Amino acid sequence: MTNDNYNPEVGKPQMVLNKVAVIEGDITKQQVDAIVNAANEALMPGSGVCGAIHRAAGEGLWEECKKLNGCETGDAKITKGYKLPAKWVIHTVGPVWEGGSYGEDELLAGCYRRCLELAEQHNIRAIAFPAISTGVYAFPLERAAKIAVTEISSFLERNTSVEQVILVCFSKSAYDCYLRVMKEIS
Ligand code: ADP
Repeated sequence: MTNDNYNPEVGKPQMVLNKVAVIEGDITKQQVDAIVNAANEALMPGSGVCGAIHRAAGEGLWEECKKLNGCETGDAKITKGYKLPAKWVIHTVGPVWEGGSYGEDELLAGCYRRCLELAEQHNIRAIAFPAISTGVYAFPLERAAKIAVTEISSFLERNTSVEQVILVCFSKSAYDCYLRVMKEIS
């Protein structure tokens, strides 16, 4: 085994998960290359994390979003960060929870994949995610956290350009839930 990072005690999933941090905080304050916005299909400044990102970024973000022709559920689009500490905002549209049999899991997984693909294309090294779909869109938090951690770790196993992923939780209960899921998966 020539990989210097290889540690048989720890194993591959743990190596990957070492790049993932869970914090409780406000995503608009994160000093990373890109933050992810849990956006709506119209890419309009809405409520929740989306409203907070647009308020912190300023009018320029909405002006750029208007030119993007919206975004489909499960897909993502990138803009500049304007007044945010982050250089980029990656807007992704999570599914609205309708009970779980309408492809919600796969759509949510697609959000994480598309965001990370865009991050890689833009040489983004550090990226922060909110808990997409778990607010107004009512996706169950633990189920969403499992999808987030699974998709992020399988991306990090295949790609090396992204060096740090921060999962930003807006409440202590969300933070505790993410930590539980991280332990289960590692
Ligand atoms: P969605 O419509 O995708 O459900 P919401 O904005 O309603 O999006 O909620 C997504 C998640 O973002 C929720 O868990 C919510 O608590 C969280 N959230 C809201 N504001 C912030 C913020 N400023 N920073 C980080 N997370 C936030």
